[in-house]
Amino acid sequence: MKTETSSTATCPLCGQSYTGRPAVSRTDNKTFICPECGTRQALESLGISIAEQNEILETIHRSQLDNH
Ligand SMILES: [Zn+2]
Repeated sequence: MKTETSSTATCPLCGQSYTGRPAVSRTDNKTFICPECGTRQALESLGISIAEQNEILETIHRSQLDNH
């Protein structure tokens, strides 16, 4: 049984609506962004290229689908 609240918010970075727990932008530490942009910013801070970020996010999406 799912207990998480599903409030919907819109990410100011990518403009997509998302549900669940937001991430906090690393640029100002107060803007809420979607988990995907949060992951991107984290990867970017590690010096990972956008192409690699896309691959990692794709892997994350795939593993989330597998969790059903
Ligand atoms: Zn986003």
